[in-house]
Amino acid sequence: MALRLYAATTSQGKLRDFGAAAEAHGLSIEPLPGLKAIPAPEEDGLTFAANAALKAVYYSRCAPGALVLADDSGLEVDALNGAPGVRSARFAADSGLTDSPDANDNTDVWNNIVLLQRLSGVPAALRTARYRCVLAAARDGALLHTADGAVEGVILESPRGTGGFGYDPLFYLPGLVRTMAELDLETKHTLSHRGRAIAALLPLLNA
Ligand code: IMP
Repeated sequence: MALRLYAATTSQGKLRDFGAAAEAHGLSIEPLPGLKAIPAPEEDGLTFAANAALKAVYYSRCAPGALVLADDSGLEVDALNGAPGVRSARFAADSGLTDSPDANDNTDVWNNIVLLQRLSGVPAALRTARYRCVLAAARDGALLHTADGAVEGVILESPRGTGGFGYDPLFYLPGLVRTMAELDLETKHTLSHRGRAIAALLPLLNA
């Protein structure tokens, strides 16, 4: 019988990335039942691994006996000593830039503006960066495994492309001569940091 895994995420994009990699290993991944009704834990870890682990352990207590996966991901920019890192989703908010409550959600736009400001004057050769994802697996409140996935790129000086989300319009893949926001979904999923993290984790679970 196929091993059943629950992912502690409601993000369709993440579920698709995880699901595609899991299928290749003969496993299926489903969203954790009732996730929306469970209060989210505070992600106060200093590393992706710490946040992924605390979420997996926390949510595994809500599904007794099941294997529960949780991830944390973000952008690391070398010229910024690894920032925004675990603060990727809140990079602009940390600088005091937030929308008024009744505005559309422009978080990604603000985050990209702050990133460009911080990298102003940094030459192309020093704008190296990577997306990283750490996935953690837990059962009944015990952490079982963690695994890492990354994809390397360069931060452009202006956005290109309309696909993807987050920092994708600024994240350039020299090998593909495209930003993440210019890739078709199939290509993006093939090389994604999430796909690579789950491909590294699944053999550990199967073993
Ligand atoms: P989280 O894993 O949902 O907490 O993601 C943290 C943040 O990292 C997101 O809000 C994005 O800003 C950024 N991020 C993570 N993965 C990606 C990606 O594949 N493309 C663009 N931005 C990403």
